[in-house]
Amino acid sequence: MDYDVIIIGGGPTGLNCAIAAHKENLSYLIIEKGVLVNSIYHFPINMTFFSTSPVLEIGGIPFISHGDKPTRREALEYYRRIVETFDMNIHLLEEVKNIAEKEAGFDVVTNKGQYSSANIIVSTGYYDTPRLLDIPGEQLPKVKHYYDDPHVYIGMDVLVIGAANSACDVALECHYKGANVTMAVRGDDLYAKVKYWIRPNIENRIKEGSIKAYFNTTVKEIKDGSVILVTPEGEIEIKNDFVLAMTGYLPDYNFLRKLGLEVNTEENCVPAHNDESLESNIPGVYVAGVICAGLRTNKLFIENTRDHGEKIISDIVKKREHAEVV
Ligand SMILES: Cc1cc2nc3c(=O)[nH]c(=O)nc-3n(C[C@H](O)[C@H](O)[C@H](O)COP(=O)(O)OP(=O)(O)OC[C@H]3O[C@@H](n4cnc5c(N)ncnc54)[C@H](O)[C@@H]3O)c2cc1C
Repeated sequence: MDYDVIIIGGGPTGLNCAIAAHKENLSYLIIEKGVLVNSIYHFPINMTFFSTSPVLEIGGIPFISHGDKPTRREALEYYRRIVETFDMNIHLLEEVKNIAEKEAGFDVVTNKGQYSSANIIVSTGYYDTPRLLDIPGEQLPKVKHYYDDPHVYIGMDVLVIGAANSACDVALECHYKGANVTMAVRGDDLYAKVKYWIRPNIENRIKEGSIKAYFNTTVKEIKDGSVILVTPEGEIEIKNDFVLAMTGYLPDYNFLRKLGLEVNTEENCVPAHNDESLESNIPGVYVAGVICAGLRTNKLFIENTRDHGEKIISDIVKKREHAEVV
């Protein structure tokens, strides 16, 4: 067997699991299909976390940030230092394609090779799969499911779809950079859990009319130079250069099912797992991090999944000790 455990995904959770494995002297390999902490790398360029830095710390390594809440850039540096400090065994830019169960353990097949491991941790997050609108025009290049740099939107007519924290953040940042921002909100208000330091600002911009918000509104079609909105007053067509669809993300269920993981369709499509050990329906395969919440992506985040590594590794160690005794 090449490893005691292979960790799929080099996000905060994958690194956290690696630290737990290291502490128990288990051999491990993290396989990450993108760059280190690929999701965070692709977060908006000027993004500030909603968590304070101490509650994001892993492995007892202090997370130093200039403000109370760290920026994306500070987080990238933090995770880089984590990998360096623990001299982590990580393969970047290598994608896991499948796993195959063997008589003992698993073969992990990637686009670059194959490795055997006694256990697998699937910590693949959700940021690679946007929730699509499924409307005509969604495939146009002006439609973005990922927001990066506001500079692009200076002087442009921008439609922001959504009403949660990301949508409000994006609407405000683009507005302050000189975009003409319109929001399309499906419900009759902004998301109830919009952070307390964002809500008054966006509400006041909407009230004064500097950001135009359509509530109880859906987007029917996106065209080259306009969008069609269905508002309570009927359909309207407004001028548009860019659509920023901040409608959230979901775990890659095709990938999870390909691995053989069962998904609880009755309960927010949560990948089946034991709450204590995080072991999935396949003995020896564990799920970790934000994917454990399935479609309820606002339920789990870095802050409240930092115990996942320890839970899983202690289960692996317990089973190994038991096997040795038997
Ligand atoms: C804009 C935004 C702001 C957020 N702010 C906060 C915050 O302030 N505080 C907080 O606690 N949480 C926050 N979250 C939530 C949390 O930070 C992220 O979801 C976090 O990245 C989750 O960590 P993870 O390791 O579980 O998943 P991810 O960070 O998404 O890591 C999964 C990794 O798996 C890799 N991967 C996927 N499939 C494969 C494959 N087949 N082979 C190899 N690698 C693969 C991906 O490339 C990715 O790097 C935020 C989320 C977003 C979107």
